[in-house]
Amino acid sequence: MAKKKTVNVPVEEKLQYLFELQELDSKLHDIERLKGELPMEVSELEDEIVGLETRVNKLSEDIKATELKISKHQNTIKEAEVLIEKYGQQQENVNNNREYDALSREIELQKLDIQLSNKRIKEAKVQLSNQKITLEAAQKRFELKKDALDRKQAELEKIIVKTEKEEKTLDRKIQRARKKVEERLLKAYDRIRGAYKNKLAVVTVERNSCGGCFNHIPPQTQLEINQRKRIIICEHCGRVLVDRVMAGVETVEEED
Ligand SMILES: [Zn+2]
Repeated sequence: MAKKKTVNVPVEEKLQYLFELQELDSKLHDIERLKGELPMEVSELEDEIVGLETRVNKLSEDIKATELKISKHQNTIKEAEVLIEKYGQQQENVNNNREYDALSREIELQKLDIQLSNKRIKEAKVQLSNQKITLEAAQKRFELKKDALDRKQAELEKIIVKTEKEEKTLDRKIQRARKKVEERLLKAYDRIRGAYKNKLAVVTVERNSCGGCFNHIPPQTQLEINQRKRIIICEHCGRVLVDRVMAGVETVEEED
Protein backbone atom coordinates (compact mmCIF):
# COMPACT_ATOMS: atom_id res chain seq x y z
CA MET A 1 0.00 0.00 0.00
CA ALA A 2 1.20 3.49 -0.82
CA LYS A 3 2.14 5.78 2.01
CA LYS A 4 -0.41 8.40 2.89
CA LYS A 5 0.43 11.79 1.47
CA THR A 6 -1.41 13.94 3.92
CA VAL A 7 1.41 16.13 5.17
CA ASN A 8 1.09 18.73 2.45
CA VAL A 9 -2.67 18.91 2.61
CA PRO A 10 -3.84 22.48 3.32
CA VAL A 11 -5.18 23.07 6.82
CA GLU A 12 -8.58 23.95 5.46
CA GLU A 13 -8.83 20.54 3.83
CA LYS A 14 -7.57 18.78 6.95
CA LEU A 15 -10.27 20.49 8.94
CA GLN A 16 -12.86 19.54 6.36
CA TYR A 17 -11.83 15.87 6.51
CA LEU A 18 -11.83 15.92 10.27
CA PHE A 19 -15.25 17.47 10.36
CA GLU A 20 -16.62 14.93 7.87
CA LEU A 21 -15.23 12.13 10.01
CA GLN A 22 -16.81 13.65 13.09
CA GLU A 23 -20.20 13.86 11.37
CA LEU A 24 -20.07 10.20 10.37
CA ASP A 25 -18.93 9.11 13.81
CA SER A 26 -21.72 11.18 15.36
CA LYS A 27 -24.32 9.48 13.19
CA LEU A 28 -23.05 6.09 14.27
CA HIS A 29 -23.00 7.27 17.87
CA ASP A 30 -26.64 8.34 17.54
CA ILE A 31 -27.58 4.84 16.41
CA GLU A 32 -25.71 3.37 19.36
CA ARG A 33 -27.56 5.75 21.64
CA LEU A 34 -30.84 4.62 20.10
CA LYS A 35 -29.98 1.10 21.21
CA GLY A 36 -29.18 2.73 24.50
CA GLU A 37 -28.56 0.58 27.50
CA LEU A 38 -30.16 -2.46 25.89
CA PRO A 39 -27.00 -4.39 24.95
CA MET A 40 -25.61 -3.91 28.46
CA GLU A 41 -28.93 -4.80 30.09
CA VAL A 42 -29.13 -7.94 27.97
CA SER A 43 -25.64 -9.09 28.91
CA GLU A 44 -26.25 -8.32 32.59
CA LEU A 45 -29.45 -10.37 32.49
CA GLU A 46 -27.64 -13.21 30.77
CA ASP A 47 -25.02 -13.24 33.54
CA GLU A 48 -27.69 -13.14 36.22
CA ILE A 49 -29.58 -16.01 34.61
CA VAL A 50 -26.47 -18.17 34.46
CA GLY A 51 -25.96 -17.47 38.16
CA LEU A 52 -29.58 -18.32 39.00
CA GLU A 53 -29.40 -21.50 36.94
CA THR A 54 -26.38 -22.63 38.92
CA ARG A 55 -28.18 -21.79 42.14
CA VAL A 56 -31.32 -23.70 41.13
CA ASN A 57 -29.23 -26.75 40.21
CA LYS A 58 -27.32 -26.58 43.49
CA LEU A 59 -30.54 -26.27 45.50
CA SER A 60 -32.11 -29.20 43.63
CA GLU A 61 -29.07 -31.32 44.49
CA ASP A 62 -29.27 -30.24 48.13
CA ILE A 63 -32.91 -31.32 48.19
CA LYS A 64 -32.08 -34.70 46.69
CA ALA A 65 -29.36 -35.17 49.31
CA THR A 66 -31.78 -34.34 52.12
CA GLU A 67 -34.41 -36.71 50.71
CA LEU A 68 -31.79 -39.43 50.50
CA LYS A 69 -30.83 -38.76 54.12
CA ILE A 70 -34.47 -39.14 55.15
CA SER A 71 -34.91 -42.40 53.27
CA LYS A 72 -31.69 -43.79 54.78
CA HIS A 73 -33.02 -43.08 58.26
CA GLN A 74 -36.35 -44.64 57.33
CA ASN A 75 -34.48 -47.77 56.26
CA THR A 76 -32.57 -47.82 59.53
CA ILE A 77 -35.91 -47.71 61.36
CA LYS A 78 -37.31 -50.57 59.25
CA GLU A 79 -34.22 -52.68 59.85
CA ALA A 80 -34.37 -51.96 63.59
CA GLU A 81 -38.06 -52.92 63.68
CA VAL A 82 -37.27 -56.21 61.95
CA LEU A 83 -34.50 -56.90 64.50
CA ILE A 84 -36.77 -56.00 67.43
CA GLU A 85 -39.37 -58.42 66.07
CA LYS A 86 -36.71 -61.12 65.65
CA TYR A 87 -35.24 -60.58 69.15
CA GLY A 88 -38.75 -60.64 70.60
CA GLN A 89 -39.37 -64.04 69.05
CA GLN A 90 -35.98 -65.31 70.23
CA GLN A 91 -36.84 -64.21 73.77
CA GLU A 92 -39.75 -66.66 73.74
CA ASN A 93 -37.33 -69.54 73.18
CA VAL A 94 -34.44 -68.66 75.52
CA ASN A 95 -32.98 -71.16 77.98
CA ASN A 96 -32.11 -68.75 80.77
CA ASN A 97 -32.44 -65.20 82.09
CA ARG A 98 -28.97 -64.21 80.91
CA GLU A 99 -29.93 -64.87 77.28
CA TYR A 100 -33.23 -63.10 77.80
CA ASP A 101 -31.52 -60.01 79.25
CA ALA A 102 -28.96 -59.96 76.45
CA LEU A 103 -31.79 -59.89 73.92
CA SER A 104 -33.56 -57.18 75.93
CA ARG A 105 -30.42 -55.03 75.74
CA GLU A 106 -30.27 -55.57 71.96
CA ILE A 107 -33.92 -54.54 71.68
CA GLU A 108 -33.19 -51.40 73.76
CA LEU A 109 -30.29 -50.52 71.48
CA GLN A 110 -32.48 -50.91 68.39
CA LYS A 111 -35.15 -48.74 70.02
CA LEU A 112 -32.53 -46.06 70.67
CA ASP A 113 -31.51 -46.26 67.03
CA ILE A 114 -35.13 -45.76 66.01
CA GLN A 115 -35.42 -42.77 68.32
CA LEU A 116 -32.29 -41.20 66.93
CA SER A 117 -33.39 -41.81 63.35
CA ASN A 118 -36.79 -40.29 64.05
CA LYS A 119 -35.07 -37.21 65.48
CA ARG A 120 -32.83 -36.96 62.41
CA ILE A 121 -35.82 -37.37 60.08
CA LYS A 122 -37.66 -34.57 61.88
CA GLU A 123 -34.65 -32.28 61.50
CA ALA A 124 -34.19 -33.25 57.85
CA LYS A 125 -37.85 -32.55 57.09
CA VAL A 126 -37.53 -29.02 58.46
CA GLN A 127 -34.40 -28.57 56.39
CA LEU A 128 -36.15 -30.00 53.33
CA SER A 129 -39.09 -27.64 53.65
CA ASN A 130 -36.73 -24.65 53.91
CA GLN A 131 -34.76 -25.87 50.93
CA LYS A 132 -37.94 -26.20 48.90
CA ILE A 133 -39.01 -22.66 49.75
CA THR A 134 -35.59 -21.34 48.73
CA LEU A 135 -35.67 -23.35 45.52
CA GLU A 136 -39.13 -22.10 44.63
CA ALA A 137 -38.04 -18.48 45.15
CA ALA A 138 -34.95 -19.02 43.01
CA GLN A 139 -37.02 -20.65 40.29
CA LYS A 140 -39.51 -17.80 40.33
CA ARG A 141 -36.70 -15.29 40.07
CA PHE A 142 -35.17 -17.29 37.26
CA GLU A 143 -38.47 -17.26 35.32
CA LEU A 144 -38.88 -13.51 35.83
CA LYS A 145 -35.37 -12.77 34.63
CA LYS A 146 -35.82 -15.09 31.69
CA ASP A 147 -38.97 -13.23 30.66
CA ALA A 148 -37.20 -9.90 31.00
CA LEU A 149 -34.30 -11.19 28.93
CA ASP A 150 -36.60 -12.46 26.18
CA ARG A 151 -38.34 -9.09 26.04
CA LYS A 152 -35.15 -7.08 25.93
CA GLN A 153 -33.55 -9.39 23.41
CA ALA A 154 -36.54 -9.04 21.11
CA GLU A 155 -36.42 -5.27 21.50
CA LEU A 156 -32.71 -5.18 20.74
CA GLU A 157 -33.13 -7.56 17.82
CA LYS A 158 -35.71 -5.23 16.27
CA ILE A 159 -33.43 -2.22 16.58
CA ILE A 160 -30.47 -4.16 15.24
CA VAL A 161 -32.36 -5.32 12.17
CA LYS A 162 -33.53 -1.78 11.57
CA THR A 163 -30.12 -0.17 11.90
CA GLU A 164 -27.72 -2.85 10.74
CA LYS A 165 -27.55 -1.71 7.14
CA GLU A 166 -27.14 1.91 8.11
CA GLU A 167 -24.39 1.02 10.55
CA LYS A 168 -22.50 -0.99 7.96
CA THR A 169 -22.68 1.84 5.45
CA LEU A 170 -21.50 4.31 8.08
CA ASP A 171 -18.67 1.99 9.09
CA ARG A 172 -17.43 1.85 5.53
CA LYS A 173 -17.67 5.62 5.15
CA ILE A 174 -15.86 6.13 8.43
CA GLN A 175 -13.01 3.85 7.37
CA ARG A 176 -12.70 5.84 4.12
CA ALA A 177 -12.86 9.16 5.94
CA ARG A 178 -10.19 8.07 8.42
CA LYS A 179 -7.78 7.33 5.59
CA LYS A 180 -7.93 10.97 4.55
CA VAL A 181 -6.82 12.21 7.95
CA GLU A 182 -3.15 12.16 8.87
CA GLU A 183 -2.06 9.75 11.59
CA ARG A 184 -1.13 12.36 14.17
CA LEU A 185 -4.45 14.18 13.87
CA LEU A 186 -6.36 10.94 13.87
CA LYS A 187 -4.73 9.89 17.14
CA ALA A 188 -5.63 13.21 18.73
CA TYR A 189 -9.15 12.96 17.33
CA ASP A 190 -9.68 9.47 18.78
CA ARG A 191 -8.22 10.49 22.11
CA ILE A 192 -10.47 13.54 22.44
CA ARG A 193 -13.54 11.65 21.25
CA GLY A 194 -12.88 8.90 23.73
CA ALA A 195 -12.54 11.38 26.55
CA TYR A 196 -16.01 12.86 26.25
CA LYS A 197 -19.41 11.34 26.77
CA ASN A 198 -20.91 13.10 23.75
CA LYS A 199 -18.08 11.68 21.60
CA LEU A 200 -17.38 15.04 20.01
CA ALA A 201 -13.81 15.93 19.05
CA VAL A 202 -14.64 18.47 16.35
CA VAL A 203 -17.19 21.16 17.13
CA THR A 204 -18.44 24.45 15.77
CA VAL A 205 -18.56 27.79 17.51
CA GLU A 206 -22.06 28.32 18.83
CA ARG A 207 -23.04 31.79 20.07
CA ASN A 208 -19.40 32.71 20.61
CA SER A 209 -18.85 29.58 22.64
CA CYS A 210 -17.26 26.19 22.11
CA GLY A 211 -19.90 23.77 20.85
CA GLY A 212 -18.39 21.07 23.00
CA CYS A 213 -17.88 22.61 26.43
CA PHE A 214 -19.79 25.88 25.96
CA ASN A 215 -16.97 28.03 27.23
CA HIS A 216 -16.51 31.46 25.66
CA ILE A 217 -14.26 31.75 22.63
CA PRO A 218 -12.51 35.13 22.34
CA PRO A 219 -13.25 37.12 19.12
CA GLN A 220 -9.61 36.92 18.04
CA THR A 221 -9.71 33.12 18.22
CA GLN A 222 -13.01 33.07 16.33
CA LEU A 223 -11.40 35.12 13.60
CA GLU A 224 -8.55 32.64 13.37
CA ILE A 225 -11.00 29.79 13.21
CA ASN A 226 -12.76 31.43 10.29
CA GLN A 227 -9.45 31.91 8.48
CA ARG A 228 -8.80 28.14 8.56
CA LYS A 229 -5.04 28.74 8.44
CA ARG A 230 -4.21 26.52 11.37
CA ILE A 231 -5.96 24.01 13.53
CA ILE A 232 -7.44 25.76 16.54
CA ILE A 233 -8.41 23.83 19.60
CA CYS A 234 -10.63 24.97 22.45
CA GLU A 235 -8.37 26.00 25.32
CA HIS A 236 -10.87 24.60 27.80
CA CYS A 237 -11.71 21.17 26.44
CA GLY A 238 -9.14 20.55 23.70
CA ARG A 239 -11.72 19.93 21.00
CA VAL A 240 -10.96 21.05 17.45
CA LEU A 241 -12.99 24.10 16.52
CA VAL A 242 -14.35 24.64 13.03
CA ASP A 243 -16.38 27.53 11.67
CA ARG A 244 -20.07 27.24 11.04
CA VAL A 245 -19.74 27.73 7.30
CA MET A 246 -17.49 24.71 7.01
CA ALA A 247 -19.90 22.80 9.15
CA GLY A 248 -22.68 23.75 6.77
CA VAL A 249 -24.82 25.30 9.46
CA GLU A 250 -24.30 28.78 8.03
CA THR A 251 -24.03 29.92 4.42
CA VAL A 252 -21.23 32.17 3.35
CA GLU A 253 -21.91 35.53 1.76
CA GLU A 254 -19.76 35.56 -1.35
CA GLU A 255 -17.54 38.60 -1.70
CA ASP A 256 -17.26 40.25 -5.08
ZN1 LIG B 1 -14.44 23.59 24.53
